[in-house]
Amino acid sequence: MKTDDNITSAVASVYEWIDSKAAGRTPCDACGNCCDFKQYDHRLYVTSVELQYLVTTLGPAAIKKMNDGICPYNENNKCTIHKNRFAGCRIFSCQSDADFQSRLAEESLAKLKSIGYKYHWPYCYVDLATGLNDLTEQP
Ligand code: SF4
Ligand code: SF4
Repeated sequence: MKTDDNITSAVASVYEWIDSKAAGRTPCDACGNCCDFKQYDHRLYVTSVELQYLVTTLGPAAIKKMNDGICPYNENNKCTIHKNRFAGCRIFSCQSDADFQSRLAEESLAKLKSIGYKYHWPYCYVDLATGLNDLTEQP
């Protein structure tokens, strides 16, 4: 699986930026309900640079398939990759202002997209199941 450390570090900076913007504005009781996308009627889209970040920070062996509409990193309603979670997970809050989240999501996506261009990484924005399942099929 191809990786690029420049992308990993650039995505980490975007996540830090998101966390600083979201601090105090995206309250969450960490119930894990929204990680069951089917049940919660919710979708999570991720960028290709974030998937690359996941591979390099967790290691290829830790990449899991998603088969049943529940994020495979949710165990017993807890996120097992909290530090490495995606931009959408950092931004979404069922208790927060939708306009604020929407603006933050747009700005974050622009930053993530620019990383792809800067490091000539094929950029795409896909639902989590597609992204994870594609990764697990890569040699
Ligand atoms: S955002 Fe809401 S539904 Fe999702 S884990 Fe937090 S409290 Fe639960
Ligand atoms: S990465 Fe964590 S927070 Fe995001 S959907 Fe999966 S379990 Fe939930």
